[in-house]
Amino acid sequence: MDDVELEDANEWLRGAARVTVLTGAGISTDSGIPDFRGPNGVWTKNPAMEKASTLQHYLADADVRRAAWQNRLHSPAWDARPNAGHLAIVELERQGKLVAVVTQNIDELHQRAGNSPDKVIEVHGTMRWARCWECGDRRSMDDLLVRVRAGDDDPACAICGGIVKSDTISFGQSLVPEVIDAALTAAESCDVLIAAGSTLSVFPAANLVPRAKSAGARVVIVNAEPTGMDRYADAVLLGELSVLLPALVATGADRVARSD
Ligand code: NAD
Repeated sequence: MDDVELEDANEWLRGAARVTVLTGAGISTDSGIPDFRGPNGVWTKNPAMEKASTLQHYLADADVRRAAWQNRLHSPAWDARPNAGHLAIVELERQGKLVAVVTQNIDELHQRAGNSPDKVIEVHGTMRWARCWECGDRRSMDDLLVRVRAGDDDPACAICGGIVKSDTISFGQSLVPEVIDAALTAAESCDVLIAAGSTLSVFPAANLVPRAKSAGARVVIVNAEPTGMDRYADAVLLGELSVLLPALVATGADRVARSD
């Protein structure tokens, strides 16, 4: 990336009336939550961890579930706070430009940063809720973690005794059609799509990039490393999201204030 590319992208953002942002795990690493596939990712370091995110293994194997409950209990996400990258997206909403932030993340840091919940489209669900696989009972993850802490290492549904998992979309599990439709609509109705902190290798979320492009939007990809969708981008900004996203959404006034 060169400064010209960042300046061009900043100008597109300043001229845009409708901006959609797609985020991945990379936006939350500066908040202390590791990603999966980045150089320090959970799966990069320990490929066996991928099993716990696969529905078939989770449902079939009590050992996988017990390990998953321990991971949930000790997740850094519970204490994580939004960082400058999340706040830059709040700034877009404050500017009145944000169509939606479509996130693959399950940590709710966009809402905690200050984005309105109705602007956040969580295509992979949320880890702050749990759901019974048999009867669909949905309740706060806190209720389940209290039981794990008390020694129940694979807590069953309090209503029907079924298997409980976090209310997230595991590999092998269908996405919620209305949620993915809303995400694709947001991509197809913006002037600029920003894709930030994702390898853009998980579908259908990654499809937002070609969908936005073919609907006429400019596409800006911001990530630490190249992604599978860079060929669709009008600008690829390589580097730290907590630095690049605030620079990308800065208004003329911010830029003057900074140079004073
Ligand atoms: P990924 O792990 O596949 O990719 C993350 C990308 O972000 C990598 O290319 C990495 O190099 C980049 N990155 C990491 N930190 C960065 C930083 N500070 N600045 C710039 N780039 C940075 O993530 P993904 O494509 O979102 O897919 C992983 C799946 O795992 C998602 O579907 C999501 O559901 C789940 N996940 C969620 C969280 C979370 O909620 N915070 C965390 C891990 C995984």
